Amino acid sequence: MITLQDCQQQDLQDPLGSLRDLFDIPEALVYLDGNSLGALPRSTATRIARTVQHEWGQGLIRSWNQAGWFDLPHKVGDKIAQLIGAASGEVVAADSTSINLYKVLSAALNMAGQDHPTRRIVLSERSNFPTDLYIAESLCKERGMRLQLVEPEDLLGALNSDIAVLMLTHVNYRTGAMHDMQAFNVQAKSHGALTIWDLAHSAGAVPLELKTAQADFAVGCGYKYLNGGPGAPAFVWVNPLHTDRFWQPLSGWWGHATPFEFTPDYRPAAGITRYQCGTQAMLSLVGLDCGVDTLLAAQALGGMNALRKKSLALSDLFIALVEQNCQGHGLRCVTPLEHSSRGSQVCLARDEGAYAIVQALIARQVIGDFRAGDGGTHPDILRFGLTPLYVGFVDVWNAVDQLRQVLQSGEWQEPQFNQIQIVT
Ligand SMILES: *Cc1c(COP(=O)(O)O)cnc(C)c1O
Repeated sequence: MITLQDCQQQDLQDPLGSLRDLFDIPEALVYLDGNSLGALPRSTATRIARTVQHEWGQGLIRSWNQAGWFDLPHKVGDKIAQLIGAASGEVVAADSTSINLYKVLSAALNMAGQDHPTRRIVLSERSNFPTDLYIAESLCKERGMRLQLVEPEDLLGALNSDIAVLMLTHVNYRTGAMHDMQAFNVQAKSHGALTIWDLAHSAGAVPLELKTAQADFAVGCGYKYLNGGPGAPAFVWVNPLHTDRFWQPLSGWWGHATPFEFTPDYRPAAGITRYQCGTQAMLSLVGLDCGVDTLLAAQALGGMNALRKKSLALSDLFIALVEQNCQGHGLRCVTPLEHSSRGSQVCLARDEGAYAIVQALIARQVIGDFRAGDGGTHPDILRFGLTPLYVGFVDVWNAVDQLRQVLQSGEWQEPQFNQIQIVT
């Protein structure tokens, strides 16, 4: 039997507990949606205000040099590199996840086309995040190739000498299930296929070793676990073995070797710089810089390994409390129980009412979200992101306790909780 006192005790013993003070989160709120939009770091508002008033207002165009604007995508990229097992100079923070995926998939298909011209298939998972599939579908169409989608358990078996690229999201956005990246990379390599990883639900959430795991390409999101703010720039990493082999197709001037020579012909910069396209959004990049700094602040306290340990303890607690206190209400945990297969979220499936239950929870100051099923294999889901930087053990207790009350009272059936809004 787990009690509130047990959770209070866990908070007292939590070596990462003080990191919550780096964030500006409303006092009464339990925020379990950092996997969709990370919380606001305390430093962000001041830093962006300074950038606007001082660097832009006073410095004006001089700030591209004097305030270091031009290099900021690399500076933030170098910080992100520390979180994902990459080296300095290998990551650039720029554009969006969707756009970066377009760049790396194009580059990978160019490489595959040169090395293995008969390969015509991009392999991915049917329940991958839709934007990833849409981008791949359009590139395949353009090149007369085929996007093959299979269930996760069939991925390894589907790898063969027809596959040009294996494109996966490391942690599934719906279920929180995590792939064994290294195992997939090794298998893909043995079949001569390249790998692309989307780290949207991994970067800043679980320890990553891109280079050790022998990945070929990776992209990731700035506004989820990296706390960069709504629409923050994303990032892109290319294994240094491949960076100089092809240009990415969005060959804008920020990817040019000498952009300020303004030559009419394109000559790509060496390394990851060529994965930039045009002028980057400085205000958003400054926000991302502040967000990434909150993760670097954890380095002194054990870094990603310590965050991972806490994240698993939080999700274990969440799952155990649902089992203990919410029995008989039709909830099924669809997040893997095995630690090695779990990201940093807990997902509960329910045959009906999932959307309304989430809305009723939000009215009670517990913010999670809802992801619609497909009426078939994939059920409707209540999704709870557990961000170890700012979520505590008593937060988990309170969230599950409110969930219990919503289910017991049946209040979720009230009409105001059943009106579907645009963003779920
Ligand atoms: C959140 C997310 C994205 C978001 O892409 P945008 O270009 O920022 O809209 C992409 N892929 C995955 C797997 C995600 O979870």
